[in-house]
Amino acid sequence: MTTSPARHLLASLAGIIVLAITATLVASALGPASERILTVFFISLIAVVGMGVYSGNSGILSFGHLSFMGVGAYVSGLLTLPAQMKMATLPKLPDWLAAAETGFFSAILIAVVVTSVLALIVGLALNRLEGSAATIATLGLLIITHGVIIGWRDVTRGSQSFFGVPRETTLWAAAVFCILALIAARLYRDSVSGLRLRAGRENAIAAGAVGVNIRKERLISWVLSAAIMALSGALIAHFLGAFSPKKFYFADTFLLLAMLIVGGMSTVTGAITGAVTITLVTEILRRFEGGFNLAGLEMPAVFGTTQIGIGLIILFAMFRKPDGLAGLKELEERFFPGHRVDPAQTVTAGAVKPVDPTPLQGQNLTMRFGGLVAVRDVSITVNSGEILGLIGPNGSGKTTLLNMLSGVLAPSEGTVRRGDTDLTQAKPYEVANHGIARTFQNIRLFDTLTVYQNVLIAALSTKNGERAVERCETAIQAMGISQFAGSDANTLSYGDQRRVEIARALACEPRRVEIARALACEPSLLFLDEPAAGMNREETDDLMATLQKLTGDLGLGVLIVDHDLKLINQLCDRIMVLNEGAEIAQGAPEDIRKNPAVIEAYLGHS
Ligand code: ADP
Ligand code: MG
Repeated sequence: MTTSPARHLLASLAGIIVLAITATLVASALGPASERILTVFFISLIAVVGMGVYSGNSGILSFGHLSFMGVGAYVSGLLTLPAQMKMATLPKLPDWLAAAETGFFSAILIAVVVTSVLALIVGLALNRLEGSAATIATLGLLIITHGVIIGWRDVTRGSQSFFGVPRETTLWAAAVFCILALIAARLYRDSVSGLRLRAGRENAIAAGAVGVNIRKERLISWVLSAAIMALSGALIAHFLGAFSPKKFYFADTFLLLAMLIVGGMSTVTGAITGAVTITLVTEILRRFEGGFNLAGLEMPAVFGTTQIGIGLIILFAMFRKPDGLAGLKELEERFFPGHRVDPAQTVTAGAVKPVDPTPLQGQNLTMRFGGLVAVRDVSITVNSGEILGLIGPNGSGKTTLLNMLSGVLAPSEGTVRRGDTDLTQAKPYEVANHGIARTFQNIRLFDTLTVYQNVLIAALSTKNGERAVERCETAIQAMGISQFAGSDANTLSYGDQRRVEIARALACEPRRVEIARALACEPSLLFLDEPAAGMNREETDDLMATLQKLTGDLGLGVLIVDHDLKLINQLCDRIMVLNEGAEIAQGAPEDIRKNPAVIEAYLGHS
């Protein structure tokens, strides 16, 4: 299934095909020199989108992808190299490989499969790393692969040129494969896996909390991107006919990365924009590099003009367009509206399923951060059908307790159980899959995705994605945010001055989106960390009415943290009070109000 409206995808795919075919026809008409340039451009573009499939969607820059291009080139080259040629240039090749002589397309296919398997193995290890550690590890991969190619002389001819590969890559072959690679990248971006990965890129903790297993999605994109790199490698090998390990090392890594970053790595549009820009600039500057005549004035040759030009473009892009020239949206996403949700439809009581009545139990939970004990031996039970309030002064450990219950933090001591299931060491996505959803004190939305996509991810990533669209739309309607479904989450951002001026009431929208996202998991227990923070009285009352209706209709168990004592008193069946990490009181709202320890804790801090 695709996660953006079908018209986005259709426009995108049609655009790609028309552009590529037009360019091919024009280049064919202009002659062999243009054909050469365009063929190399198509092959580079395949590599750039290949890198983008991983780096763009995961947000992790990779320096290692040219390894896969190299593997693709050598594997396919070894397969198509005529047997006699192999006997002459690679006498020590194993017999089965020496005898192998396949056609161009079978060689490409085998190269892609072999590279994908290799990428899977490397990816399983590399996937354990996050952020810049992962990036540095990819650099290690590039260096190791280069070393292996140079060292494995019997098979690769070492640092010498690997030559005699049949020149089978025609302009049309490059064009067709480029179209296929672009379509694959665009479809992946909008696939369930792609959307989850982009959510993880925007906010890893929030993605985990709605059931996304980021490592799994990252591995999928890593292998797919390696396969696309292998395709690019096989094509360049059969275009050049001869190449050496240098071709798949630093220089080209930086050139292709420059294309990706200048264009904008999170979109296919960006990859195309970057590849076109850098190729054009390179082609133009190269003509001036050897000196030129300017209105009768002889300009001297300046070596390095091309490199300086590319450097300046990167600088310009980073200063003026840090997200790349194409920005964060595909071209067609700017023109066509996103998903719409009909606000009139409301949740029908008949459609509501009974929720899992098993309570969640935290037993003797303690959390230490170095010497600081943030939560001290607290036991808590969250029942379905009940609203439990958690209050206490700032820094009393409320958020930390909630983090332990939802898998964001592993407790230093104590256990978290739901019925027979031990959730003490469970990952956030596993907790989400046990019917526990949450929101965050500091709002965590997937900023560059639409409100609809923010909520859809939650529905797709829990309960095996069953009835995902229905759950997504129901949650959006229930929270009264239907009119924002197609907007980007970051346009609703909290405290945005323009929005505040236009309509003060809209400032609470991000909180509502977050709650809708949690509801789309169709949870049986819902944790809300200061959902009314920053809201005025009217908005708070409005939110309270919505929450009351939801819990009444759905029978949800709710754990709510808030400083607004009026809200807590009116909403909650039971209240638990923390102070300096320890529980100081628990009971019905009227008892808590009169409790001397509670009064002391609150007065002592204000
Ligand atoms: P509350 O939500 O009740 O305001 P928190 O649970 O956020 O309180 O914080 C409780 C205490 O733990 C505070 O002193 C806070 O500084 C500390 N704390 C919270 N998270 C961390 C962390 N990740 N590392 C170190 N200290 C933390
Ligand atoms: Mg807090």
